[in-house]
Amino acid sequence: MDVKAVRSQFPILDQNVNGSPLVYLDSAATSQKPLQVIEAINAYYRLDNSNVHRGVHTLGTRATDKYEGAREKVRGFIDAKTTEEIIFTRGTTTAINTVANSYGRANLSEGDEIVITYMEHHSNIIPWQQLAKSTGATLKYIPLQSDGTITLDDVRETVTSHTKIVAVMHVSNVLGTVNPVKEIAAIAHENGAVILVDGAQAVPHMKVSVTDINCDFYAFSGHKMCGPTGIGVLYGKKALLEKMEPVEFGGEMIDFVNLYDSTWKDLPWKFEGGTPIIAGAIGLGAAIDFLEDIGLDEITAHENKIVTYAMAQLRTIDGLTTYGPKDRAGLITFNLDDVHPHDTSTVLDAEGIAVRAGHHCAQPLMKWLEVTATARASFYLYNTTDDVDRLVTGLNKAKEFFGDVF
Ligand code: PMP
Repeated sequence: MDVKAVRSQFPILDQNVNGSPLVYLDSAATSQKPLQVIEAINAYYRLDNSNVHRGVHTLGTRATDKYEGAREKVRGFIDAKTTEEIIFTRGTTTAINTVANSYGRANLSEGDEIVITYMEHHSNIIPWQQLAKSTGATLKYIPLQSDGTITLDDVRETVTSHTKIVAVMHVSNVLGTVNPVKEIAAIAHENGAVILVDGAQAVPHMKVSVTDINCDFYAFSGHKMCGPTGIGVLYGKKALLEKMEPVEFGGEMIDFVNLYDSTWKDLPWKFEGGTPIIAGAIGLGAAIDFLEDIGLDEITAHENKIVTYAMAQLRTIDGLTTYGPKDRAGLITFNLDDVHPHDTSTVLDAEGIAVRAGHHCAQPLMKWLEVTATARASFYLYNTTDDVDRLVTGLNKAKEFFGDVF
């Protein structure tokens, strides 16, 4: 992969921040957008803007073709069988809430169990807490090993014949752990449960086949994979989606409306109430083209190289603790002794280096790690070993600066 050529596609990276060239290490929060994506959205608004699935005028047909074309791109990208299984949502959060509120409310009651892990993002915790409260079901957690991984024995121990839903993240946004979701799916199915996979941190970085994983639901966001904000995807197996009720009602999702009841459109549109996120979906389609042109395997290999180098360099810094397993995705969460992560990130920002500090929407995991917050550097296809060197220099400055204070 030619990183220089890749970087030239991201105009935002070519700027100084606080007097230094920008080093962007916060792609796990949101990735930057290449020209191809920015231009696809621009072209839609300049040339084709119109509502979809309505009317028969030319712009309406063009907009509909582009919107539905993006759905086909998503289908191919995650290896789903049919576009009926691809629902556009606002993001991962909306996708998970849709499953909890539709499938969950219809199928769970007292005595049933929902199983998640300690490493989940709040988006994959709170919808299940709410579902447990409203149905009387019990929420259970698969425990973590000391390195931030889960074992299949613990999955077998936690998932029982009472379990109705297993919801796990594919890749941890804090630990970088890559969970064995295919094996977890098999255990869920042996117990008669369905499985939802939160793929927000996986789909942007590695080849994902929902068919191979054999998951029932898979959720991800466009903005972490070079696409725009406000668009995401819920994949669901057709047989399940067909039986599920929509959670948003109104225009676009109906077939016939009578005075006192109505019928719904076919899949996937019955889950897309209101004017859909047309420009967002088109932008996501352009992002998929961009990532596929480079190749997901190439991107994974590049991030692997960067994270391995970064790990080795960070280990040279005295008093720096990293969290998570040895084999990890392209991010490193860490703390410097005696320095609050917000202070670390402020010093780095003064050097033009963007990292995230806080609880990373994973407060139960922070509790498990026995910290209140951490700093996180997350890498993507446009990052280089020079970025890592700048990070290390910045961290040494943070240590010097706060070393003087304490
Ligand atoms: N799950 C994981 C693992 C995430 O990293 C994120 C975003 N930080 C989300 C869910 C939520 O995604 P969104 O805010 O795009 O809905």
